[in-house]
Amino acid sequence: MSTPSAPTEVSMETIVALCKRRGFIFQSSEIYGGLNGFFDYGPLGSEMKKNIRDCWWNDMVRRRDDIVGIESSIIMHPKVWHASGHVAGFTDPLVDCKVSKQRYRADQLFFAPVVIDGKTAGYVSALESESTATELQAAAENFKRKKAIQGALAPVEPRDLTEAQPDEIPQIPSPATGEPGSLTPPRAFNMMFETYVGALRDASAVAYLRPETAQGMFVDFKNVVDTGRVKLPFGIAQVGKSFRNEITPRNFIFRSREFEQMEMEYFIHEDADWSKCHKDWIEWCRQWLISIGLPESHLSLYDHPKAKLSFYSKGTTDIMFKYPFGVQELWGIAARGNYDLTQHAEASGKPQEIFDEATKKKFVPHVIEPAVGTDRIFLAALCAAYVEEQVTDEKGNTETRIVLRLSPRIAPVKVAVLPLLKNKEALVGRAQELYKKIKRKYTAFYDESGAIGRRYRRQDEIGTPWCVTIDFDTIEKDGTFTLRDRDTMQQKRITEDDLFKLLDEQVY
Ligand code: ATP
Repeated sequence: MSTPSAPTEVSMETIVALCKRRGFIFQSSEIYGGLNGFFDYGPLGSEMKKNIRDCWWNDMVRRRDDIVGIESSIIMHPKVWHASGHVAGFTDPLVDCKVSKQRYRADQLFFAPVVIDGKTAGYVSALESESTATELQAAAENFKRKKAIQGALAPVEPRDLTEAQPDEIPQIPSPATGEPGSLTPPRAFNMMFETYVGALRDASAVAYLRPETAQGMFVDFKNVVDTGRVKLPFGIAQVGKSFRNEITPRNFIFRSREFEQMEMEYFIHEDADWSKCHKDWIEWCRQWLISIGLPESHLSLYDHPKAKLSFYSKGTTDIMFKYPFGVQELWGIAARGNYDLTQHAEASGKPQEIFDEATKKKFVPHVIEPAVGTDRIFLAALCAAYVEEQVTDEKGNTETRIVLRLSPRIAPVKVAVLPLLKNKEALVGRAQELYKKIKRKYTAFYDESGAIGRRYRRQDEIGTPWCVTIDFDTIEKDGTFTLRDRDTMQQKRITEDDLFKLLDEQVY
């Protein structure tokens, strides 16, 4: 017996190993050594990712009257990206180590002067992590010991490399070599992937893989207004792949170079209370994450400081998630004013306005943008669902049970159908019949091999919420079968009708 337990503190190694072992995620092009920053979703992973995407689409678009969906092309006219500011400014600060040839994002490379008796004796550096400050302090103590400098060491004051003065950079050690002198000053690195459209390979044929899906909504704004019977406030949503040539893809699927985004642009009147609308969307997104099983305790909010916002932005709040590698951005909710539509109106010469019946005036609507990565939700859901617990079987033996406590909404398989014995035709026949019926609407798995306990464990590890076992009572008595709950491991008898009722209620 077991009772539901809190999520285990899980390491990324454990999650990556589970993903590979059970077919959730593989490295892209693995047989050729892999390609850094690219991943493939396997049979279970693609089901689960589709479930996350479908839940979002259903709740965000289909179940609301004020939001419509689109699917714009990945490669758009290059002028889109000039107007949006991406060609000029979609950059990350890049730092090279000239000796090791490693590249770093300057805002993820931290350093601190080693100050002894009020004098700077040298510098230490460390890459961004949960323990950057502790690592830098330890490095500073080590520095003092190695150089045998006497005196009082001041507590380190970490800064990132974008904040380094030009004369400090040659003194900061490279994380790759541990020695100073090889780091270059940060420079802007544009993250857009370029390609060519058509047979010519010259500057006139350059196009870009989109770095976000959002511009599709702005560029199609007028088309939707003219055809979609929408009235302010209303939203346009889309789900699709985005591409960023990240300098340091890392933390598995958290930061990759090809990823999926689910974005929505919510257009409001220029005089509307944007702050209230922004807050409402933050809460909607938070509640939605909880509805697909993310624990509230792992979620927090981060308001971007006003000083760091783009000039047009009124406010940005990120919903943060407690990943095994630290608290990181999961979902950004930005109040973008009317910047994007205005930019496209100017660049295309086509007004992007709406007519206000009340004032008989035209204006450019403002927008609230909740933008999230499907892959980041996927990783958050897996990490939060992973539990290892000690259980005792009927014979009194204790073993470790690995269970993914995924919400039934996103679990890749909803029900496993298990005949008690595989060599009894009547049991197998009934199990097959039920399995085929469930499969018309829900993902199901049929398993007849091995002891029943082993079959339960296999389903626990992939997060299947329910197992039904067809036994002799099913075929000889009342037709009911055993329903076993993944989290409590409790079993009860249930009719086919009740099973479908349960699925309808829980999988939506
Ligand atoms: P970060 O600061 O982590 O690079 P960002 O602020 O640049 O992210 P946005 O441009 O706001 O991200 O993109 C919206 C969402 O898309 C993010 O909140 C995140 O969920 C997702 N996302 C962005 N970049 C990546 C990536 N490289 N890999 C996976 N998901 C990503």
